[in-house]
Amino acid sequence: MNRIDPKLAATLRQPAELIDCGLAPAFDLADLERVAARYAIAVTPEIAALIDPDDPRDPIARQFIPSVAELATEPSENPDPIGDHTHSPVAGIVHRYPDRVLFKLVHVCAVYCRFCFRREMVGPGKATALSQAAYRCAIDYIRAHKEIWEVILTGGDPLMLSPRRLAEIMADIAAIDHVKIVRLHTRVPVAAPARICREMVAALRVEDATTWVAVHANHPRELTVEARAACALLVDAGIPLVSQSVLLRGGNDDATTLEALMRAFVECRIKPYYLHHGDLAPGTAHLRTTIAQGQELMRALRGRVSGLCQPEYVLDIPGGHGKAPIGPTYLSHPRSRERELSSETGYRIVDYCGDVHLYPPKP
Ligand code: SF4
Repeated sequence: MNRIDPKLAATLRQPAELIDCGLAPAFDLADLERVAARYAIAVTPEIAALIDPDDPRDPIARQFIPSVAELATEPSENPDPIGDHTHSPVAGIVHRYPDRVLFKLVHVCAVYCRFCFRREMVGPGKATALSQAAYRCAIDYIRAHKEIWEVILTGGDPLMLSPRRLAEIMADIAAIDHVKIVRLHTRVPVAAPARICREMVAALRVEDATTWVAVHANHPRELTVEARAACALLVDAGIPLVSQSVLLRGGNDDATTLEALMRAFVECRIKPYYLHHGDLAPGTAHLRTTIAQGQELMRALRGRVSGLCQPEYVLDIPGGHGKAPIGPTYLSHPRSRERELSSETGYRIVDYCGDVHLYPPKP
């Protein structure tokens, strides 16, 4: 499955290249050109090799191969779905919560996900990286705000930077006394695992701050032998890993796939962290589930895997109001009939089988 076809030796960026490699139907060319004019395309050889071209519903293809459905935008969709702009005091910085900032260094990625919440901001044709002046201004902002404990490097994908540049940036951030944590959000360990080399790992380690890496993967097939080796290099160097996944209609919206994904993360020493409900990014409605479906899947997961394998199901509230855990909830107050039967007034709690139990109030 993971052997790379020589035809796929380079990242595929054009609809015609996808068609040539059998990853998209030729009759879609005109529509896919229209999609490509609006949203970036990149499919690395490693990702292309995971796609079964004979499966029209391949879950990896669904994440990376453009679709004509992306040309349809719903009224609720928004080019800035999680409100980054509302909370950006200087270029490159999003300061939504007091103790942490997002630091968006680059606007390019190894691959372009079809559901990306920053799809209007990333890709060729957008500014590829912060200018040196904007970078200095962002560092000055972090230095001036003593409440900032954590800096989250995101993007685009910060691991698209060279190890040398990344080492400079890590050193600049770690030199700020009040910053204790630097977290990097990345797709690189699964999409371009060869980039995780010893130089890259060395660049991520700094003396005066603790580095965490959040690995984005959505399907267990993405955790290939090479991806696992890349993650192992990071963990073996003492860098803790957490996961980020997006719940995707037709991509991972079944309990068996989510179970396998979470188990694979834990096997790779990646603690499952977030399962994101799909954001209201333009042209992504075909990839979103309902929240009720997401909650049902989380219930199923609770019965299948240990707490170690449980991510938190979260929604970024549109408009920039931050993340909220969106359940499901297991605790409520007893219904009147249950109270009559048991005389309990405390709590009603549902176990992983769906059975209801009453928990007494504190006397
Ligand atoms: S890697 Fe992240 S920022 Fe880049 S396209 Fe995918 S979701 Fe968007």
